[in-house]
Amino acid sequence: MITIKSPDEIKLLKIAGRIVYDTHKYLQQYLKPGISSLELDKLAYDYIIKRGATPSFLNYDGFPNTLCISINDEVVHGIPDNRKLKDGDIVSIDIGACYKGYHGDSAWTYYIGDNPSDDIKRLMKGTEESLYKGLSAIKPGNRICDISKAIEDCANSYNLSIVRELVGHGVGTDVHEDPEVPNFVSNYKGPVLKEGMVIAVEPMLNLGRRNVYVSDNDWTVITMDHKPSAHYEHTVVVTKDGYEILTGE
Ligand code: MG
Ligand code: MG
Repeated sequence: MITIKSPDEIKLLKIAGRIVYDTHKYLQQYLKPGISSLELDKLAYDYIIKRGATPSFLNYDGFPNTLCISINDEVVHGIPDNRKLKDGDIVSIDIGACYKGYHGDSAWTYYIGDNPSDDIKRLMKGTEESLYKGLSAIKPGNRICDISKAIEDCANSYNLSIVRELVGHGVGTDVHEDPEVPNFVSNYKGPVLKEGMVIAVEPMLNLGRRNVYVSDNDWTVITMDHKPSAHYEHTVVVTKDGYEILTGE
């Protein structure tokens, strides 16, 4: 069921989104070689709690941590552990926070070090741009498939492949609500966008082939060819004439 959020609910969703955005900003100073993903997870947990929210993903379907940290060939749902970040890694951090029962959800991909290869630059730039192209298709009267088309066109223009097993989603009192927001074109047209709908748009693009598998830990999604993957996500509200990002500045 797709819910239209009231102005009071949107106020709470904005606070949750702001906490998610601020958590990303807070973590950036620590994104250096030598820190472990588990240390980042602890920093994020403490920060989110300090802000009066709770981590959305912790215990979600049994997920054991605050952050999903997916490194290099890991696409999404990486489980933080003692592995240390090193120069040349690309790291996707997905953050969810719940404030007074309302969630925010945003992922970003970061490069560790100073000199990404041209391929990594293309992967990161193309995936980030595909997020914003997708968002630019949001306005009342358009459909979900307009977002999908904009993302797919952008991914193609960067010669990146689109992961199809995971999609964007509605956001509200549950971190994953209807409707689904695919990053690719299919027979699914999706509902017409209406003012007050809140959705997370989240392209996951691969440098190599689109195929992925789930690791032995039952969570982490990994590229089949072990080439790197990137993931950018914002939660947005549909407004009278477009959209507003809830997980940005
Ligand atoms: Mg999401
Ligand atoms: Mg997310």
